[in-house]
Amino acid sequence: MRHEIINQQGYEKVIKVRDIRSGLNAFIAIHNTALGPALGGCRMWPYASHAEALRDVLRLAQGMTQKNALAGLDLGGGKAVIIGDSKTDKSPELFKAFGRAVESLKGLYYTAEDVGVTAQDMGLIARETKYVAGLPQEMGGSGNPSPFTAYGVFLGLKAAAEHRFGTGILQGVKIIVAGLGHVGFELCRLLSEAGAELIVADLDVDKVRKAQNLFGAREAHPCEAFAKAADIFAPCALGGGLNDATIPMLQVGAIAGAANNQLASAAHGDALYKRGILYAPDYVINAGGVISIAQEI
Ligand code: NAD
Repeated sequence: MRHEIINQQGYEKVIKVRDIRSGLNAFIAIHNTALGPALGGCRMWPYASHAEALRDVLRLAQGMTQKNALAGLDLGGGKAVIIGDSKTDKSPELFKAFGRAVESLKGLYYTAEDVGVTAQDMGLIARETKYVAGLPQEMGGSGNPSPFTAYGVFLGLKAAAEHRFGTGILQGVKIIVAGLGHVGFELCRLLSEAGAELIVADLDVDKVRKAQNLFGAREAHPCEAFAKAADIFAPCALGGGLNDATIPMLQVGAIAGAANNQLASAAHGDALYKRGILYAPDYVINAGGVISIAQEI
């Protein structure tokens, strides 16, 4: 396995890991350990280039420093990304090699689930390192953190509604949920139980059909979800969705969702403010999962 240290200003340690036998191609970024060892999930995604993967891991690691600190955890911020398609490129060897890379950092970084990676994958990583959390419950872990994340986002969304509209009661409130994965789908369930009217979008049409059947949701095309008129928009897919192109199209009063790094840049927070759109910061309201994982550590 080859480790290459990447000098990155503002970060404590960034490494690129390559293991030819298992096909592992990954980055681990440790942003800040002032409060304790860095904790942040491992994302598996088919990045188009190494530069794109590095950019993502750096932004995500910094977000974890903010998230863990604001959640009152004695943990710093870090993150990992594995370049690959989680549907076709997973193998026990790949995750074990990743586990060895985490172990080589000697406790500076704890890994856990993120997009494309499951509690079962954490079980494989745990064969090579003790610095892993979010393990399956049958292994003594706290299991999939997504329901806790979804519950936190639900409460954060209600708080945002109260602040923006004067009431946190969601009966009849129109909410767009973009991304129906582990968090987004569970969020839809909670919102539907609270009486919200849902508009949903996902690249996977099966998930959209399921949300239509279970929650009576209406469908929006993923490219059009930003432009739909509603009360609240909940981005629950990937980051960077609030940008120069999408912000002028928004027709909502508030944004509160699970996706990490929703703002393409800090300036886009100002752009939302100027448009009178309340933004509930992702790293504040999506901390439920990491709080659950921190208990396990
Ligand atoms: P997931 O992989 O289970 O789901 C992501 C979903 O988004 C998938 O269904 C995918 O098809 C869909 N998607 C991707 N691109 C899309 C697009 N352009 N438009 C519409 N849908 C699109 O991931 P998840 O675990 O549900 O996480 C969702 C987001 O929340 C991520 O940004 C993640 O980093 C963040 N987050 C997750 C947790 C957690 O506990 N899982 C915790 C904190 C933050």
